[in-house]
Amino acid sequence: MHSDYETIIGLEVHAQLSTRSKMFCACANKYGAEPNTLICPICLGMPGTLPTLNARAVDMAIAFGLAVNAVIQKKSRFYRKQYFYPDLPKGYQITQGPVAVVEGGSLEILGDPAVRSSEGNIQIGIERAHLEEDSGKSTHEAKRSLVDLNRAGVPLLEIVGRPELRSPTEAYNYLKALHRLLTALDICDGNMEEGSFRCDANVSVRPKGQEAFGVRVEIKNLNSFRYVRQALEYEVKRHTELLKAGSTPIQETRGWDTDKGESRIQREKAEAMDYRYFPEPDLPPLEISQTELETIRLSMPELPSAHKKRFTDSYGLTDYEAEMLTQDRAFADYFESVAKLCNNPKQTCNWMLGELSRAINERGGNIKTLGVSAEYLAELISHVDNKTVNLNTAKEAIFPALLAGEGGPREVIEKRGLAQISDTGAVEAIVDSVLTAHPTQVSELRAGNTKLRGFLVGQVMKAGKGKVNPQIVNEILDRKL
Ligand code: ADP
Ligand code: ZN
Ligand code: MG
Repeated sequence: MHSDYETIIGLEVHAQLSTRSKMFCACANKYGAEPNTLICPICLGMPGTLPTLNARAVDMAIAFGLAVNAVIQKKSRFYRKQYFYPDLPKGYQITQGPVAVVEGGSLEILGDPAVRSSEGNIQIGIERAHLEEDSGKSTHEAKRSLVDLNRAGVPLLEIVGRPELRSPTEAYNYLKALHRLLTALDICDGNMEEGSFRCDANVSVRPKGQEAFGVRVEIKNLNSFRYVRQALEYEVKRHTELLKAGSTPIQETRGWDTDKGESRIQREKAEAMDYRYFPEPDLPPLEISQTELETIRLSMPELPSAHKKRFTDSYGLTDYEAEMLTQDRAFADYFESVAKLCNNPKQTCNWMLGELSRAINERGGNIKTLGVSAEYLAELISHVDNKTVNLNTAKEAIFPALLAGEGGPREVIEKRGLAQISDTGAVEAIVDSVLTAHPTQVSELRAGNTKLRGFLVGQVMKAGKGKVNPQIVNEILDRKL
């Protein structure tokens, strides 16, 4: 039924750049200080003061642009965007004009197989990313409103994504990928609760096959990955139901009520507000030289996309597996150590996305606090590969013992007598005793009731306390029956 309609989503992200000082003055760019202590005449917009551009913020915007293969504009300008609001002390925001420092480019994300013809990575276009300053913060109480201007003038990179996402899952993946890129570049701390990474989501729904976009609704200020997905799922459902009833949504701005789990109208989108943009006369045009650009390019760390590509290419993993393994640097490094030691990347991946992730989820913490060394996991995987133990014993008995700190795999296997019985003579003795104990089943099996074979194998495994090598059991049964 969902296939009659198509969802279009485009995200606008505001990322606070982690510079030490603000965008146009020397005040500290820091979260959580006493209200109105990180302010000066410049960020308060006192008459007669002049802004000075923070060069680090520009470098960070360039690093982002290079990372998404954008065109870095050699020349751009700052503008004044006027509006009247208590948390905007100057009465205007300094932002970039028609040309942004970063134009175009794309971000690699994991596509949603439910809406794409194949699995794996896709590219989502970036429209532009421009520099601007943040506003202060208002808090509304019952009888009064308070304003904290510590945030006024904090550098922001506004990243406008193209409307190329096709489901709430893809929006979620895009946001994750962007978050990972910005933190890997070390240009944003990514703290969503503190507002360092904020998202407005635009969504529309159209009948499949229709070329024109449907009416767009913007959901403002989503401050967690989960809320972005939830709010979009809610909106898509709402739009689809309206369309099915022969109606259309209204173009408007909505907010997400986290308690009720529903979106609510904030304001109707009237014709574009007149911000009376004009070039900021107190700042010279922003000019970027080729040398500056090359210096920044050379200092860039390994990017998430390159990291993932290295994982799919060198270890034969899928895009999904590479994505999951590289979400966290320490987790990814651990994978590489184990995979190299045991020479079995596929099994290492299975263990890490299975047992180890589950253990981290249950206990909290991370791969380091889990307390299972890369050497131990590699050894355990090798014991399974060499058939010293079977996979089941490794998962059910040995791994929990490693987590409990009972020593290395070899020690645990010996102490608990977990080694698989691979000695044919010993297995044969067990098989014989089981066959003798179940004469009726044996004769029925011989008469053609093949289902009973599973029963007998089960009895052998039970008698061997789960340690017999199933392959040998099958070989002996083949011979005897
Ligand atoms: P505005 O000027 O209102 O901010 P933009 O053209 O800058 O509008 O687009 C803002 C965001 O909305 C972009 O991220 C873009 O991808 C997204 N967008 C534009 N059109 C649609 C649409 N029809 N459906 C969903 N998202 C859209
Ligand atoms: Zn200041
Ligand atoms: Mg916009």
